[in-house]
Amino acid sequence: MLTDPAWSVVPGLVHGFFDRHDCREPVDWPGVLARHGVGLPLARPRQVHGATVLLVDEVTASSEGDAVVATRSGVAVGIITADCAPVLLRDRCGRAVAAVHAGWRGAAAGVVQRALAMLSRVAGVEAAQVEVVVGPAVGACCYEVGDEVRRAFAARGGTELGFAFTPRRDRFMFDLRAAVGALAQAAGAGAVRHLGPCTMCDASYASYRRDGAAAGRQLSFIALR
Ligand SMILES: [Zn+2]
Repeated sequence: MLTDPAWSVVPGLVHGFFDRHDCREPVDWPGVLARHGVGLPLARPRQVHGATVLLVDEVTASSEGDAVVATRSGVAVGIITADCAPVLLRDRCGRAVAAVHAGWRGAAAGVVQRALAMLSRVAGVEAAQVEVVVGPAVGACCYEVGDEVRRAFAARGGTELGFAFTPRRDRFMFDLRAAVGALAQAAGAGAVRHLGPCTMCDASYASYRRDGAAAGRQLSFIALR
């Protein structure tokens, strides 16, 4: 499990980005937390590559969304990934946390900015008080995309993300994590940090692009104690 060094020393905050060995099949996600000493219930939405942000008390087994925000302690919010970017957020006053699943579709649809806005609102803080950590995801070394991905981000306007697309023949190598970080920064986040390797290069991580439908998933979570 990877943790952000700065967050690891914050009293009352617990978080982590698991790898696929931590999440062995058959996966019981709250059990993964419990095995790692985090005995908290887990609120996890049905992820649909969209931009819906849920509050923790809205999450049921069937709630669809790609981000969950919690303002109370005693419950972990989490998402699962296998190449998409797991993104965790907290405000510096310790009032709220969020977990975001950001693949290219959700990121292009604004899930990162929406989660940041919701967290700032419910915590009652400026976006500049929010810190963002982007975990292991497919890297620009491995992530080849077509022009439709570049156009999807360009169509949203506002944030210049051309730097995240390196042309290769008639396609692009896309740096999803850098794009996600830039979107958070442009939305006013006070700090954006990146953790971990490319999930496709590093066999410790589940990678949908490497292993197809047989790929597992890894959990990322955050909670106020
Ligand atoms: Zn790679």
